[in-house]
Amino acid sequence: MGPSFPLEPSPDEMRVMGSAALDALVGFVRELPDAPALDRSGAEDLAARFREGAPEFGESFEKVLDQILEASSKGIETAGPGFFGYIPGGGLYASALAAFVGFGMNRFVNFWEAAPALAQIEASVIAWMGELFDYPPEARGILTSGGSLANFSAIVTARHALLGEQFLDGVLYTSDQAHHSVVKSAMLAGFPTRNVRLVPCTDDLRMDVGALHDLVDEDRRAGLRPFCVVANAGTTNTGTVDPLVDLVGVAHERRMWVHVDAAYGGFFQLTQRGRRALRGITGADSITLDPHKGLFLPYGTGALIVRDGARLRDAHRVRGEYMQDVAEETEIPSFGDYSPELSRDFRGLRVWLPMKLHGLQAFRDALDEKLDLARFVYEELRDTAGFELPWEPDLTVVPFRYAFRARDPEEGNRELLERINATGRVFLSSTMLRGQFTLRVCILSHRSHRDRVEECVEIIKEGARSVDR
Ligand SMILES: *Cc1c(COP(=O)(O)O)cnc(C)c1O
Repeated sequence: MGPSFPLEPSPDEMRVMGSAALDALVGFVRELPDAPALDRSGAEDLAARFREGAPEFGESFEKVLDQILEASSKGIETAGPGFFGYIPGGGLYASALAAFVGFGMNRFVNFWEAAPALAQIEASVIAWMGELFDYPPEARGILTSGGSLANFSAIVTARHALLGEQFLDGVLYTSDQAHHSVVKSAMLAGFPTRNVRLVPCTDDLRMDVGALHDLVDEDRRAGLRPFCVVANAGTTNTGTVDPLVDLVGVAHERRMWVHVDAAYGGFFQLTQRGRRALRGITGADSITLDPHKGLFLPYGTGALIVRDGARLRDAHRVRGEYMQDVAEETEIPSFGDYSPELSRDFRGLRVWLPMKLHGLQAFRDALDEKLDLARFVYEELRDTAGFELPWEPDLTVVPFRYAFRARDPEEGNRELLERINATGRVFLSSTMLRGQFTLRVCILSHRSHRDRVEECVEIIKEGARSVDR
Protein backbone atom coordinates (compact mmCIF):
# COMPACT_ATOMS: atom_id res chain seq x y z
CA MET A 1 0.00 0.00 0.00
CA GLY A 2 1.38 3.41 -0.95
CA PRO A 3 0.47 6.85 0.31
CA SER A 4 -3.10 7.91 -0.49
CA PHE A 5 -2.08 11.37 -1.50
CA PRO A 6 1.08 12.70 -3.07
CA LEU A 7 2.78 15.52 -1.15
CA GLU A 8 1.47 17.90 -3.79
CA PRO A 9 -2.11 16.89 -4.60
CA SER A 10 -3.65 17.83 -7.96
CA PRO A 11 -6.13 20.72 -8.07
CA ASP A 12 -8.98 18.22 -8.10
CA GLU A 13 -7.62 16.32 -5.14
CA MET A 14 -7.13 19.60 -3.32
CA ARG A 15 -10.79 20.44 -3.88
CA VAL A 16 -11.98 17.08 -2.64
CA MET A 17 -9.85 17.32 0.50
CA GLY A 18 -10.76 20.95 1.05
CA SER A 19 -14.49 20.43 0.74
CA ALA A 20 -14.36 17.43 3.05
CA ALA A 21 -12.52 19.55 5.65
CA LEU A 22 -15.01 22.39 5.16
CA ASP A 23 -18.00 20.06 5.56
CA ALA A 24 -16.48 18.67 8.73
CA LEU A 25 -15.96 22.13 10.16
CA VAL A 26 -19.39 23.44 9.19
CA GLY A 27 -20.93 20.35 10.80
CA PHE A 28 -18.83 20.89 13.92
CA VAL A 29 -19.87 24.51 14.29
CA ARG A 30 -23.54 23.75 13.55
CA GLU A 31 -23.61 21.17 16.32
CA LEU A 32 -21.89 23.37 18.91
CA PRO A 33 -25.14 24.57 20.59
CA ASP A 34 -26.08 20.96 21.33
CA ALA A 35 -22.61 19.63 22.06
CA PRO A 36 -21.87 18.92 25.74
CA ALA A 37 -20.06 21.82 27.38
CA LEU A 38 -17.98 19.20 29.18
CA ASP A 39 -17.63 15.51 28.38
CA ARG A 40 -14.89 13.54 30.05
CA SER A 41 -16.48 10.09 29.83
CA GLY A 42 -14.03 7.73 28.17
CA ALA A 43 -11.77 10.65 27.27
CA GLU A 44 -8.59 8.98 28.42
CA ASP A 45 -9.36 5.75 26.59
CA LEU A 46 -9.98 7.80 23.51
CA ALA A 47 -6.66 9.57 23.98
CA ALA A 48 -4.92 6.21 24.44
CA ARG A 49 -6.10 5.16 20.98
CA PHE A 50 -4.05 8.01 19.56
CA ARG A 51 -0.90 6.83 21.30
CA GLU A 52 0.60 5.11 18.26
CA GLY A 53 3.80 4.91 16.26
CA ALA A 54 4.43 7.14 13.25
CA PRO A 55 2.70 5.62 10.21
CA GLU A 56 5.03 4.44 7.45
CA PHE A 57 2.23 4.69 4.88
CA GLY A 58 -0.73 7.00 4.62
CA GLU A 59 -4.45 6.34 4.76
CA SER A 60 -7.37 8.18 3.17
CA PHE A 61 -8.01 11.82 3.98
CA GLU A 62 -11.58 11.09 5.06
CA LYS A 63 -10.39 8.55 7.60
CA VAL A 64 -7.84 10.94 9.05
CA LEU A 65 -10.41 13.72 9.18
CA ASP A 66 -12.82 11.44 11.04
CA GLN A 67 -10.11 10.79 13.58
CA ILE A 68 -9.67 14.52 14.15
CA LEU A 69 -13.40 14.95 14.72
CA GLU A 70 -13.46 11.99 17.06
CA ALA A 71 -10.46 13.29 19.01
CA SER A 72 -12.14 16.66 19.46
CA SER A 73 -15.34 15.11 20.82
CA LYS A 74 -14.15 14.80 24.45
CA GLY A 75 -13.07 17.37 26.98
CA ILE A 76 -14.18 20.96 27.54
CA GLU A 77 -16.05 22.47 24.58
CA THR A 78 -14.08 25.70 24.54
CA ALA A 79 -15.65 26.78 21.24
CA GLY A 80 -19.26 26.38 22.40
CA PRO A 81 -21.79 28.93 23.73
CA GLY A 82 -21.78 27.37 27.22
CA PHE A 83 -18.07 27.86 27.87
CA PHE A 84 -17.88 30.32 30.78
CA GLY A 85 -14.73 28.95 32.41
CA TYR A 86 -11.28 30.55 32.55
CA ILE A 87 -11.28 33.18 29.75
CA PRO A 88 -13.27 32.12 26.66
CA GLY A 89 -12.63 33.34 23.13
CA GLY A 90 -14.85 31.34 20.82
CA GLY A 91 -12.91 31.19 17.55
CA LEU A 92 -14.26 33.23 14.64
CA TYR A 93 -14.92 31.30 11.47
CA ALA A 94 -13.46 34.12 9.36
CA SER A 95 -10.27 33.82 11.33
CA ALA A 96 -10.08 30.07 10.71
CA LEU A 97 -10.37 30.77 6.99
CA ALA A 98 -7.64 33.40 7.25
CA ALA A 99 -5.39 30.82 8.91
CA PHE A 100 -6.20 28.30 6.18
CA VAL A 101 -5.41 30.74 3.40
CA GLY A 102 -2.36 32.12 5.21
CA PHE A 103 -0.86 28.69 5.82
CA GLY A 104 -1.75 27.60 2.31
CA MET A 105 0.15 30.51 0.81
CA ASN A 106 2.99 30.09 3.30
CA ARG A 107 4.54 33.50 2.78
CA PHE A 108 7.22 34.78 5.09
CA VAL A 109 6.12 38.00 6.79
CA ASN A 110 8.68 38.54 9.53
CA PHE A 111 10.95 40.68 7.31
CA TRP A 112 9.09 43.29 5.37
CA GLU A 113 10.71 42.89 1.97
CA ALA A 114 9.84 39.20 1.66
CA ALA A 115 6.18 40.21 1.34
CA PRO A 116 5.83 43.99 1.76
CA ALA A 117 2.05 44.24 1.47
CA LEU A 118 1.44 41.21 3.67
CA ALA A 119 3.82 42.61 6.30
CA GLN A 120 1.92 45.90 5.99
CA ILE A 121 -1.33 44.05 6.67
CA GLU A 122 0.13 42.90 9.95
CA ALA A 123 1.60 46.35 10.65
CA SER A 124 -1.83 47.87 10.03
CA VAL A 125 -3.49 45.53 12.48
CA ILE A 126 -0.90 46.51 15.10
CA ALA A 127 -1.37 50.20 14.27
CA TRP A 128 -5.15 49.81 14.74
CA MET A 129 -4.50 48.40 18.19
CA GLY A 130 -2.15 51.30 18.96
CA GLU A 131 -4.76 53.82 17.85
CA LEU A 132 -7.33 52.21 20.11
CA PHE A 133 -5.13 53.28 23.03
CA ASP A 134 -4.18 56.69 21.59
CA TYR A 135 -0.59 55.57 20.99
CA PRO A 136 1.61 57.88 18.86
CA PRO A 137 2.78 56.95 15.32
CA GLU A 138 6.19 55.77 16.59
CA ALA A 139 4.51 53.00 18.56
CA ARG A 140 5.26 49.47 17.37
CA GLY A 141 4.12 46.03 18.29
CA ILE A 142 4.22 42.34 17.61
CA LEU A 143 1.70 39.58 17.34
CA THR A 144 2.61 36.70 19.61
CA SER A 145 1.20 33.24 20.28
CA GLY A 146 -0.67 34.69 23.27
CA GLY A 147 -0.62 37.01 26.25
CA SER A 148 2.09 35.08 28.07
CA LEU A 149 4.72 35.76 25.43
CA ALA A 150 3.53 39.34 25.04
CA ASN A 151 4.14 39.84 28.78
CA PHE A 152 7.55 38.23 28.34
CA SER A 153 8.65 40.58 25.55
CA ALA A 154 7.28 43.55 27.49
CA ILE A 155 9.38 42.74 30.55
CA VAL A 156 12.45 42.10 28.40
CA THR A 157 11.89 45.49 26.75
CA ALA A 158 11.50 47.33 30.07
CA ARG A 159 14.59 45.56 31.42
CA HIS A 160 16.67 46.45 28.37
CA ALA A 161 15.46 50.05 28.28
CA LEU A 162 15.89 50.84 31.97
CA LEU A 163 18.45 48.46 33.48
CA GLY A 164 20.96 47.52 30.79
CA GLU A 165 22.88 44.26 30.94
CA GLN A 166 23.60 44.23 34.69
CA PHE A 167 20.05 43.95 35.81
CA LEU A 168 20.02 41.65 38.81
CA ASP A 169 19.28 44.54 41.17
CA GLY A 170 16.18 45.45 39.15
CA VAL A 171 12.82 44.99 40.88
CA LEU A 172 9.46 44.46 39.27
CA TYR A 173 6.06 45.05 40.88
CA THR A 174 2.74 43.46 40.13
CA SER A 175 -0.32 42.69 42.25
CA ASP A 176 -1.20 39.47 44.06
CA GLN A 177 -4.08 39.20 41.55
CA ALA A 178 -1.83 39.24 38.46
CA HIS A 179 -1.78 36.39 35.97
CA HIS A 180 0.96 33.87 36.73
CA SER A 181 2.56 34.60 33.35
CA VAL A 182 3.88 37.88 34.80
CA VAL A 183 6.02 36.08 37.38
CA LYS A 184 6.92 33.45 34.79
CA SER A 185 7.96 36.15 32.32
CA ALA A 186 10.14 37.85 34.91
CA MET A 187 11.75 34.49 35.63
CA LEU A 188 12.35 33.80 31.93
CA ALA A 189 13.70 37.34 31.52
CA GLY A 190 16.42 36.40 34.00
CA PHE A 191 15.12 37.79 37.27
CA PRO A 192 15.27 35.73 40.45
CA THR A 193 11.78 35.39 41.90
CA ARG A 194 12.89 37.42 44.91
CA ASN A 195 13.06 40.46 42.56
CA VAL A 196 9.31 40.25 41.92
CA ARG A 197 7.09 42.01 44.47
CA LEU A 198 3.47 40.97 44.70
CA VAL A 199 1.89 44.20 45.84
CA PRO A 200 -1.16 43.58 48.05
CA CYS A 201 -4.59 44.65 46.85
CA THR A 202 -7.23 46.73 48.57
CA ASP A 203 -10.50 44.99 49.48
CA ASP A 204 -11.85 45.56 46.00
CA LEU A 205 -8.94 43.47 44.61
CA ARG A 206 -7.14 46.41 42.98
CA MET A 207 -3.43 47.02 43.42
CA ASP A 208 -2.90 49.16 46.52
CA VAL A 209 -1.17 52.27 45.21
CA GLY A 210 0.00 53.30 48.67
CA ALA A 211 1.55 49.87 49.24
CA LEU A 212 3.30 50.08 45.87
CA HIS A 213 4.62 53.47 46.81
CA ASP A 214 6.05 52.16 50.11
CA LEU A 215 7.57 49.03 48.58
CA VAL A 216 9.32 51.02 45.87
CA ASP A 217 10.78 53.47 48.37
CA GLU A 218 11.89 50.66 50.65
CA ASP A 219 13.62 48.86 47.77
CA ARG A 220 15.32 52.06 46.71
CA ARG A 221 16.64 52.64 50.19
CA ALA A 222 17.98 49.07 50.12
CA GLY A 223 20.00 49.99 47.02
CA LEU A 224 17.82 48.09 44.54
CA ARG A 225 16.52 49.47 41.25
CA PRO A 226 12.73 49.42 40.95
CA PHE A 227 12.12 49.55 37.19
CA CYS A 228 8.72 48.17 36.19
CA VAL A 229 5.11 47.98 37.34
CA VAL A 230 2.86 45.44 35.65
CA ALA A 231 -0.73 46.55 36.18
CA ASN A 232 -3.90 44.61 35.41
CA ALA A 233 -6.57 45.77 33.03
CA GLY A 234 -8.96 42.95 33.83
CA THR A 235 -7.56 40.24 36.10
CA THR A 236 -8.16 36.64 35.14
CA ASN A 237 -9.63 35.93 38.58
CA THR A 238 -12.32 38.60 38.66
CA GLY A 239 -11.89 40.89 35.64
CA THR A 240 -10.89 43.72 37.97
CA VAL A 241 -9.03 46.75 36.62
CA ASP A 242 -6.24 48.30 38.71
CA PRO A 243 -6.33 52.08 39.43
CA LEU A 244 -4.38 52.77 36.25
CA VAL A 245 -4.34 56.58 36.41
CA ASP A 246 -2.75 56.55 39.86
CA LEU A 247 -0.38 53.68 39.10
CA VAL A 248 0.90 55.37 35.96
CA GLY A 249 1.39 58.55 38.00
CA VAL A 250 3.35 56.87 40.81
CA ALA A 251 5.47 54.79 38.43
CA HIS A 252 6.34 57.57 36.03
CA GLU A 253 7.21 59.91 38.86
CA ARG A 254 9.86 57.32 39.77
CA ARG A 255 10.92 56.80 36.15
CA MET A 256 9.59 53.27 36.06
CA TRP A 257 8.08 51.44 33.11
CA VAL A 258 4.36 50.72 33.24
CA HIS A 259 3.23 47.61 31.45
CA VAL A 260 -0.49 46.91 31.45
CA ASP A 261 -1.59 43.31 31.15
CA ALA A 262 -4.84 43.75 29.24
CA ALA A 263 -4.84 40.23 27.79
CA TYR A 264 -8.40 39.69 28.93
CA GLY A 265 -9.78 43.21 29.27
CA GLY A 266 -8.03 45.29 26.61
CA PHE A 267 -10.50 45.09 23.76
CA PHE A 268 -13.33 46.39 25.94
CA GLN A 269 -11.67 49.69 25.07
CA LEU A 270 -13.82 49.43 21.92
CA THR A 271 -16.91 50.10 24.06
CA GLN A 272 -17.84 53.20 26.04
CA ARG A 273 -18.23 51.35 29.32
CA GLY A 274 -14.93 49.57 28.73
CA ARG A 275 -13.18 52.84 28.02
CA ARG A 276 -14.42 54.18 31.35
CA ALA A 277 -13.31 51.06 33.20
CA LEU A 278 -9.85 51.16 31.60
CA ARG A 279 -9.26 54.86 32.16
CA GLY A 280 -5.54 55.58 32.44
CA ILE A 281 -4.45 52.68 30.23
CA THR A 282 -3.39 55.09 27.49
CA GLY A 283 -0.56 56.25 29.77
CA ALA A 284 1.07 52.79 29.76
CA ASP A 285 4.48 52.26 28.15
CA SER A 286 3.33 48.91 26.81
CA ILE A 287 0.13 46.87 26.70
CA THR A 288 -0.54 43.15 26.31
CA LEU A 289 -3.66 42.24 24.35
CA ASP A 290 -5.11 38.86 23.46
CA PRO A 291 -7.12 38.87 20.23
CA HIS A 292 -7.85 35.20 20.96
CA LYS A 293 -9.88 36.43 23.92
CA GLY A 294 -11.43 39.84 23.32
CA LEU A 295 -11.63 39.63 19.52
CA PHE A 296 -12.96 36.05 19.66
CA LEU A 297 -10.11 34.66 17.54
CA PRO A 298 -8.98 31.04 17.69
CA TYR A 299 -6.18 30.29 20.16
CA GLY A 300 -2.75 31.40 19.01
CA THR A 301 -2.94 35.17 18.62
CA GLY A 302 -1.72 37.56 21.30
CA ALA A 303 -0.27 41.04 20.90
CA LEU A 304 2.11 43.48 22.51
CA ILE A 305 2.11 47.17 21.70
CA VAL A 306 4.88 49.49 22.89
CA ARG A 307 4.53 53.26 22.96
CA ASP A 308 8.15 53.93 21.98
CA GLY A 309 8.59 51.33 19.26
CA ALA A 310 12.36 51.77 19.08
CA ARG A 311 12.69 50.36 22.59
CA LEU A 312 10.94 47.16 21.58
CA ARG A 313 13.33 46.82 18.64
CA ASP A 314 16.44 47.65 20.64
CA ALA A 315 15.56 44.90 23.11
CA HIS A 316 15.07 42.22 20.45
CA ARG A 317 17.30 43.02 17.50
CA VAL A 318 20.15 40.59 16.78
CA ARG A 319 21.12 39.48 13.27
CA GLY A 320 23.24 36.75 11.64
CA GLU A 321 25.61 36.97 8.64
CA TYR A 322 23.25 34.87 6.52
CA MET A 323 20.81 37.75 6.85
CA GLN A 324 23.06 40.31 5.20
CA ASP A 325 20.75 40.50 2.18
CA VAL A 326 17.79 41.43 4.34
CA ALA A 327 16.89 45.06 3.74
CA GLU A 328 16.75 47.62 6.52
CA GLU A 329 13.39 48.75 7.72
CA THR A 330 11.44 51.40 5.84
CA GLU A 331 7.87 52.49 6.46
CA ILE A 332 7.05 48.82 6.97
CA PRO A 333 8.52 47.22 10.11
CA SER A 334 10.54 44.02 9.98
CA PHE A 335 8.88 42.17 12.83
CA GLY A 336 11.80 39.77 13.20
CA ASP A 337 13.74 42.68 14.72
CA TYR A 338 11.01 43.33 17.28
CA SER A 339 10.30 39.84 18.55
CA PRO A 340 12.05 36.70 19.83
CA GLU A 341 10.82 34.81 16.75
CA LEU A 342 12.22 34.44 13.25
CA SER A 343 10.07 32.05 11.20
CA ARG A 344 6.43 31.95 12.18
CA ASP A 345 2.91 31.89 10.79
CA PHE A 346 1.14 34.93 9.36
CA ARG A 347 -0.82 35.89 12.47
CA GLY A 348 -1.83 39.29 11.17
CA LEU A 349 -4.16 37.80 8.60
CA ARG A 350 -6.19 36.09 11.31
CA VAL A 351 -6.96 39.52 12.83
CA TRP A 352 -7.16 41.50 9.60
CA LEU A 353 -9.65 39.35 7.71
CA PRO A 354 -12.38 39.38 10.40
CA MET A 355 -11.81 43.13 10.95
CA LYS A 356 -12.22 43.84 7.25
CA LEU A 357 -15.17 41.50 6.93
CA HIS A 358 -17.15 42.50 10.03
CA GLY A 359 -15.88 46.02 10.79
CA LEU A 360 -15.11 47.35 14.26
CA GLN A 361 -18.78 48.01 14.97
CA ALA A 362 -19.52 44.29 15.05
CA PHE A 363 -16.88 43.83 17.77
CA ARG A 364 -18.08 46.83 19.76
CA ASP A 365 -21.63 45.47 19.72
CA ALA A 366 -20.56 41.97 20.69
CA LEU A 367 -18.44 43.22 23.59
CA ASP A 368 -21.27 45.50 24.74
CA GLU A 369 -23.54 42.48 24.71
CA LYS A 370 -21.07 40.59 26.95
CA LEU A 371 -21.00 43.50 29.41
CA ASP A 372 -24.82 43.43 29.57
CA LEU A 373 -24.85 39.67 30.07
CA ALA A 374 -22.33 39.82 32.91
CA ARG A 375 -24.39 42.55 34.56
CA PHE A 376 -27.46 40.32 34.21
CA VAL A 377 -25.71 37.36 35.91
CA TYR A 378 -24.42 39.60 38.69
CA GLU A 379 -27.84 41.09 39.45
CA GLU A 380 -29.71 37.80 39.21
CA LEU A 381 -27.40 36.02 41.66
CA ARG A 382 -27.00 39.01 43.97
CA ASP A 383 -30.77 39.22 44.29
CA THR A 384 -31.16 35.51 45.06
CA ALA A 385 -31.06 34.51 48.71
CA GLY A 386 -27.96 32.54 49.71
CA PHE A 387 -25.59 33.84 47.06
CA GLU A 388 -22.63 36.02 47.97
CA LEU A 389 -21.21 38.38 45.37
CA PRO A 390 -18.56 40.42 47.14
CA TRP A 391 -17.18 41.98 43.96
CA GLU A 392 -19.20 43.86 41.38
CA PRO A 393 -17.79 43.15 37.92
CA ASP A 394 -15.75 45.84 36.14
CA LEU A 395 -16.00 43.80 32.93
CA THR A 396 -17.44 40.33 32.28
CA VAL A 397 -16.15 38.06 35.05
CA VAL A 398 -18.69 37.43 37.81
CA PRO A 399 -17.26 35.76 40.93
CA PHE A 400 -19.74 34.22 43.36
CA ARG A 401 -20.15 31.79 46.25
CA TYR A 402 -23.10 30.16 47.88
CA ALA A 403 -23.43 30.50 51.64
CA PHE A 404 -24.34 26.94 52.60
CA ARG A 405 -26.32 26.65 55.78
CA ALA A 406 -25.12 23.31 57.03
CA ARG A 407 -21.89 22.50 55.27
CA ASP A 408 -18.31 23.49 54.93
CA PRO A 409 -18.28 26.41 52.44
CA GLU A 410 -15.43 25.08 50.31
CA GLU A 411 -16.80 21.56 50.13
CA GLY A 412 -20.29 22.85 49.32
CA ASN A 413 -19.10 25.20 46.59
CA ARG A 414 -16.88 22.52 45.09
CA GLU A 415 -19.87 20.24 44.88
CA LEU A 416 -21.93 23.07 43.41
CA LEU A 417 -19.33 23.50 40.66
CA GLU A 418 -19.43 19.79 39.92
CA ARG A 419 -23.22 19.79 39.70
CA ILE A 420 -23.22 22.78 37.39
CA ASN A 421 -20.65 21.25 35.05
CA ALA A 422 -22.34 17.84 35.17
CA THR A 423 -25.33 19.33 33.33
CA GLY A 424 -23.20 19.49 30.19
CA ARG A 425 -24.87 22.78 29.25
CA VAL A 426 -22.37 25.18 30.73
CA PHE A 427 -18.80 25.00 31.95
CA LEU A 428 -17.61 27.14 34.87
CA SER A 429 -14.27 27.21 36.67
CA SER A 430 -13.24 28.25 40.16
CA THR A 431 -10.50 30.16 41.91
CA MET A 432 -9.36 31.13 45.40
CA LEU A 433 -10.13 34.70 46.46
CA ARG A 434 -8.82 35.90 49.79
CA GLY A 435 -8.43 32.26 50.78
CA GLN A 436 -11.99 31.33 49.87
CA PHE A 437 -13.07 28.90 47.20
CA THR A 438 -15.03 30.96 44.65
CA LEU A 439 -16.85 30.11 41.44
CA ARG A 440 -16.75 32.43 38.50
CA VAL A 441 -18.70 32.98 35.29
CA CYS A 442 -16.69 34.59 32.50
CA ILE A 443 -18.69 35.65 29.47
CA LEU A 444 -16.62 36.40 26.41
CA SER A 445 -17.39 34.03 23.56
CA HIS A 446 -19.06 35.52 20.49
CA ARG A 447 -21.31 32.44 20.60
CA SER A 448 -22.66 33.07 24.11
CA HIS A 449 -25.95 34.96 24.11
CA ARG A 450 -28.82 35.74 26.46
CA ASP A 451 -30.51 32.33 26.11
CA ARG A 452 -27.48 30.37 27.31
CA VAL A 453 -26.65 32.89 30.01
CA GLU A 454 -30.21 32.69 31.41
CA GLU A 455 -29.94 28.93 31.35
CA CYS A 456 -26.63 29.22 33.18
CA VAL A 457 -28.20 31.31 35.95
CA GLU A 458 -31.01 28.77 36.35
CA ILE A 459 -28.51 25.92 36.50
CA ILE A 460 -26.52 27.74 39.18
CA LYS A 461 -29.60 28.45 41.30
CA GLU A 462 -30.94 24.93 40.94
CA GLY A 463 -27.50 23.49 41.72
CA ALA A 464 -27.26 25.51 44.93
CA ARG A 465 -30.74 24.41 46.03
CA SER A 466 -29.92 20.77 45.48
CA VAL A 467 -26.52 20.87 47.19
CA ASP A 468 -27.90 22.79 50.16
CA ARG A 469 -30.52 20.18 50.99
C1 LIG B 1 -5.04 34.86 29.48
C2 LIG B 1 -4.22 35.82 30.21
C3 LIG B 1 -2.83 35.85 30.08
C4 LIG B 1 -2.08 34.80 29.32
O1 LIG B 1 -2.41 34.81 27.98
P1 LIG B 1 -2.25 33.51 27.05
O2 LIG B 1 -2.80 34.00 25.78
O3 LIG B 1 -3.07 32.44 27.69
O4 LIG B 1 -0.81 33.18 27.00
C5 LIG B 1 -2.14 36.85 30.71
N1 LIG B 1 -2.77 37.77 31.45
C6 LIG B 1 -4.10 37.77 31.61
C7 LIG B 1 -4.75 38.85 32.44
C8 LIG B 1 -4.87 36.79 31.00
O5 LIG B 1 -6.20 36.79 31.18
